[in-house]
Amino acid sequence: MNICMVGTGYVGLVTGTCLADFGMHVVCVDVDEQKVRLLQSGEIPIYEPGLEELVAKNERAGRLSFSTDLKTAVESALAIFIAVGTPPRSDGSPDLSFVRQVAESIADHANGYKVVVTKSTVPTGTGKMIEEILRGRNGRHEFSVVSNPEFLREGSAVADFLRPDRVVIGARDERAIEVMKEIYSPLYLIETPFVITDVESAEMIKYASNGFLAVKISFINEVAELCERIGADVHAVARGMGLDRRIGPKFLHPGPGFGGSCFPKDTHAVADIARQVGGRFEIIEAAISANERTKSRMIDKIEAAAGPLGGRTIGVLGLSFKPETDDIRESPAIRIIGDLRGRGATVRVYDPAAAENARRVLDGVAFAEDAYDCAKGCDALVLATEWNEFRALDFEALAAAMSGRVLVDLRNVYDPGEMAAAGWSYSGVGRRPVEKGER
Ligand code: NAD
Repeated sequence: MNICMVGTGYVGLVTGTCLADFGMHVVCVDVDEQKVRLLQSGEIPIYEPGLEELVAKNERAGRLSFSTDLKTAVESALAIFIAVGTPPRSDGSPDLSFVRQVAESIADHANGYKVVVTKSTVPTGTGKMIEEILRGRNGRHEFSVVSNPEFLREGSAVADFLRPDRVVIGARDERAIEVMKEIYSPLYLIETPFVITDVESAEMIKYASNGFLAVKISFINEVAELCERIGADVHAVARGMGLDRRIGPKFLHPGPGFGGSCFPKDTHAVADIARQVGGRFEIIEAAISANERTKSRMIDKIEAAAGPLGGRTIGVLGLSFKPETDDIRESPAIRIIGDLRGRGATVRVYDPAAAENARRVLDGVAFAEDAYDCAKGCDALVLATEWNEFRALDFEALAAAMSGRVLVDLRNVYDPGEMAAAGWSYSGVGRRPVEKGER
């Protein structure tokens, strides 16, 4: 089957490549000419483990190609996936202008029956909007509109796509469901659960899922703050909670607040959807404000550990919003760096993959070559993103490069007692800070 993937970002590129790996013939289209040129020359514009090899394999097999020519790709495809961005507007509502543009172009170029599949995260009612655009601009041909939200996580996107917990398909007609089943047949064969429902419910599943996960993160972050105040250890609390199968251990890891291109945007969007229909989503609104508070209290934590920040040099390890990605959208690390500079600190930073993206948004910070270079002359180090290479740091080498021995571990990678024994002052999240030599 021929497929056209419109939007070749984190979701479109991974989805297009994996569908090609399923045996489909996929043309990935993007308006960003530079991105398409890069992909045509065999380079991958994002950092995503395992993606480069899979792109190369499927290009070699003649199943995957990249183009800016939407017309030709639409004409030859039976299924057209929309995977463009849906960024937040200033009021929190998702900006659907890219989705609308793509739907208009599909309508203008369609030369026969097309299944138009929304992969982008879009509010309930978008499927209907797409249908109206398609039928309004092109009465000559038939269309089926499908909602097929994506749940992959950056950093493990390929593995997530190839082995998802479920595939959600929202459609109005059997013909479209059959096309979708054919596309996803390799997942059907490995008994992946399929949730086949109406378009509106499929759209809501994505927001409800991300909203719930955001609530879980904000919940444990508030538990962590409480633990700090009462002298408890959030890890013991999270373990004790997580062993209850009704709760589960995942997403109970405290940190500097959720970031990335999805949770902040999707929580605002679902709160906005509720308001639009005359309701309120109070738990989501609380998760958003709790997350804001979590992010903003990190700077006080750093100051409490390192002393007044004016004139100090602070090293920040990790810039991406989580490990194994170069994505810095809404990254807590970027916020913290702004707050450090706001309080007069000099900031040195290092990230294994996200430095190039970060250079575009960070002014006045020194970019280091590695963690040890980052530590040079620093009064304190802040571990902001838990990349694997930060999990076994040589603390003697770090101390030799630094002028202080202070670690603010916002991901709780290290053991407080061991750090104190090694001569460090250590401050984590949701645990009592320890001074060097303390037990
Ligand atoms: P992205 O910004 O990485 O990619 C979007 C791409 O769309 C860009 O390359 C852009 O140039 C292209 N584009 C915009 N307008 C276009 C047009 N008219 N024609 C062709 N291409 C166009 O975004 P992303 O992170 O891949 O997210 C895409 C959607 O998927 C969003 O709705 C997002 O919420 C959702 N989503 C993202 C993730 C994730 O982890 N990133 C996970 C699940 C769902």
